[in-house]
Amino acid sequence: MHHAYLEKYNFPPFVTAHIIEQFFYIFSIFQTNFMRTIIEPFRIKSVEPIYFNTPIERKSILEKAFYNPFLIHSEDVLIDLLTDSGTSAMSSNQWAGIMKGDESYAGSPSFFHFKDVVQEITGMPYIIPTHQGRAAERILFELVGGKGKYFISNTLFDTTRANIEFSGAEGIDLICEEGKHPSTPAPFKGNMDVAALEKTIIEKGAENIPLVILTVTNNSGGGQPVSMQNIKEVRKICTQYKIPLFIDACRFAENAWFIKIREEGYADKTIPEIVQELFSYADGCTMSAKKDAFANIGGFLAMHSEALALQCRNLLIITEGFPTYGGLAGRDLEAIAIGLKEVMEENYLQYRIRSIEYITEKLVAAGVPVMRPGGGHAVYLDAKEFLPHIPVDQYPGQALACAIYEEGGIRSVEIGSLMFGKYDVDGKLIPATLELVRLAIPRRVYTQSHIDYVAEVLIEVFQKRASIKGLTITEEAPALRHFTVKLKPAD
Ligand SMILES: *Cc1c(COP(=O)(O)O)cnc(C)c1O
Repeated sequence: MHHAYLEKYNFPPFVTAHIIEQFFYIFSIFQTNFMRTIIEPFRIKSVEPIYFNTPIERKSILEKAFYNPFLIHSEDVLIDLLTDSGTSAMSSNQWAGIMKGDESYAGSPSFFHFKDVVQEITGMPYIIPTHQGRAAERILFELVGGKGKYFISNTLFDTTRANIEFSGAEGIDLICEEGKHPSTPAPFKGNMDVAALEKTIIEKGAENIPLVILTVTNNSGGGQPVSMQNIKEVRKICTQYKIPLFIDACRFAENAWFIKIREEGYADKTIPEIVQELFSYADGCTMSAKKDAFANIGGFLAMHSEALALQCRNLLIITEGFPTYGGLAGRDLEAIAIGLKEVMEENYLQYRIRSIEYITEKLVAAGVPVMRPGGGHAVYLDAKEFLPHIPVDQYPGQALACAIYEEGGIRSVEIGSLMFGKYDVDGKLIPATLELVRLAIPRRVYTQSHIDYVAEVLIEVFQKRASIKGLTITEEAPALRHFTVKLKPAD
């Protein structure tokens, strides 16, 4: 076969059949080493059944759930991509940690294990466990928030924004220009607009800005990463105006992986090294252990300021618990400590990010409007482009999430005007910038065939998109309305 190449191409005389053969041999080694399927870096020890239902059954389930996926019973869902929060599969090591958990009220060794790991990762001395991320947020913003204060972020997550606003303060999102265009690929679409940051600080007055918050990765902005360069630039401005920088660190490891593979100068650094550098620019962080800690519950606050930590602990005791457990059981603290280490393993992160990229590629090939490149934890459909015939006040994202459920039993969530919309004084909807539908992939839970099925369903819904109708609200709560809102098909 290699002689055929010799005859076909005019190689110089020293190129013999043997040399060509050697070339193919080396190339095949290269292929087997570097181009094989990226496999799930685990095997399955315990399984959970999925319950199947039909599109007709799902149509009536949707109606009974008032067209709100949060109100659907999870047993009626085939593939649950509502959230990656608290839905991870724990490892056998984490389950072993659960058994080792020490439930002493004060001074449990499980707390010290947890504290040591968080200190090592963040480099911050004061570690406060909370029952989830929003509990950390509530404590923090009750102390530093209040009327007349502004919190500036790349994009505040919904619970973060809600806690800021509940304190009477205002949240300001300053996402970079690339982050505003879902279909245009860019490596770090989670970056903050640094020029706008400085302008806003001058406009609002540094004394009225208690914190700047960088969300890594940017959950509400498509799970897109923030570059180390951007973190450094934000740090510089914060230092200049004496404003502390906090990191909403829920997906710190996924963000670190993107830095490693996309940012110059980081390819040879280990994930723990990148993570430590990332935290080194911050004064503190809030964390939901339900994300990049593979835990089913938990969170924490970490910081450098002893004075602020003291105030936080005083609030912690009132609603969360004693400072060495803070609303968690000893076993949860063990599971978090172990998970925080496992999440930084490169085989895992490569598989994790590749799963999202894989489904994104399939959707792009079929012409489905999807956020590009894929984010760290989820696939985001651009509902405005997907359903151009549905006006924003008929919530195209929610309509799409319902259609996806009806077609394939897949649960997703709207991240658009239902989640972030406000009303003006005349009661008219002020829409969100983007109308997205998020399909969040739980960590270590689904395999490639599940992901293939999801892509097939999404492509089928796209082909039927003209028949999808909008929705109108019949009942809503004043804050975080998307959790409990009730809707009906628009006339
Ligand atoms: C989930 C999340 C939170 C809140 O954490 P909970 O544990 O759900 O309370 C805050 N910020 C971001 C970016 C998140 O993804």
